Amino acid sequence: MAWGQKDDEAGAQEGRGSSPVSDAGRNSAGGPGPNQGDPRVRLGQAGTAPSGFRLGRVLGIPIYVHPSWLIIFLLITITLGKQFAVMHPNWSQQQHWALGIITSILFFASVIFHELSHSVVAKLYKISVESITLFVFGGLARITRDPSSAKQEFNIAIAGPLSSLFLAGCFFLVARAVPNHQLVFAACNWLWEINLMLALFNLVPGFPLDGGRILRGIAWGITGNFDRATKIASGAGRFFAYLLIFFGVWQAFNGNWVGGVWTAFIGWFLLSAARESYVQVELRNTLTGVRAADIMSRDVPTVERNISIDDYVHEVMRTGRRFHIVTGAGKPVGLVTLHSARSVPREEWANTSIQPVMMPFERIHAASPEEPALGVLQRMQSEDINQMPVISEGRIVGMIARDTILRLLQTRLQLGHLAS
Ligand SMILES: [Zn+2]
Repeated sequence: MAWGQKDDEAGAQEGRGSSPVSDAGRNSAGGPGPNQGDPRVRLGQAGTAPSGFRLGRVLGIPIYVHPSWLIIFLLITITLGKQFAVMHPNWSQQQHWALGIITSILFFASVIFHELSHSVVAKLYKISVESITLFVFGGLARITRDPSSAKQEFNIAIAGPLSSLFLAGCFFLVARAVPNHQLVFAACNWLWEINLMLALFNLVPGFPLDGGRILRGIAWGITGNFDRATKIASGAGRFFAYLLIFFGVWQAFNGNWVGGVWTAFIGWFLLSAARESYVQVELRNTLTGVRAADIMSRDVPTVERNISIDDYVHEVMRTGRRFHIVTGAGKPVGLVTLHSARSVPREEWANTSIQPVMMPFERIHAASPEEPALGVLQRMQSEDINQMPVISEGRIVGMIARDTILRLLQTRLQLGHLAS
């Protein structure tokens, strides 16, 4: 169904543990946006970035199964088992359920085939594929970067629906070839229809569905502008998402509760994914032209390497600053944070120096003054760090805090909305 770019987990040089935030679509279910000023704003592409247990490897691509997928697997198996029982009362109960399970497995093999087809085309363009994950809404192929041209986007996207159409054709032919073999016929009959539906649903021209990517590829080709194309595809995605939600509610009020709620839920999922892709573009535009030097604080707080943790904590309380460059003989030797200091038991603070808890200079992630702010923010997110020194010619010339970039983003986004 979806394919998208890798999502980084947010995290801290401060050593704060990172937690996966669900992303829908490129993979991500609308996480908190920058307009809420959430420090965990995500720059990854839309989409739930599901992880899960590993099934195996196909064409060198690891295939994962997210726990949420088990729900849908069970639902489909039960639906099929019941359906076969109604349609073929002459079969044994074991036959109903065995065929239900086998058909369900073949369906998910079809979904993997669909994702693999996106992946194979992506690989042709030297875009590496990190993983394929099955989750509650289908499959998700994660690629390491965006396509670099409209044509690439179009071809990677269309490969999925084409592969599903191909499978639909294959199952259709097998079903027609063995009309007398009831079991095979029943399974293939269901499989060709579901693959056809998969192809058609994915062709809906709304981001983040394949159809939305196809639309973006076309719009990108025509306008030559990736951002505008993304906005168009994301707008179409929101339109179709609302349509699905309304249709789901309508279904529910007409007695089809399960189907209606499910439809509305898929609509909601698509809505958040479409929104997120739009936010990506806004973020990128908002920070265009801003460099590390523009947003760094030139005031670099330092502490001597020999002070005790007790003294360090007092310094933090006195100044309110939670991270410091550690110096030895006037030269920077590391970075210490309140968080790392607190990893030492309270009773040892007086007799422990900050050296054992500091991060050595060589391991610090640093920015150069010319580095674009967006790149700095992305690195902070992927490395899970909250502050980064800016180093020029071996000297620390400033500090960047993630909060500062996020505040700037928030302000600019708000002003942008006022201006437009
Ligand atoms: Zn697809």
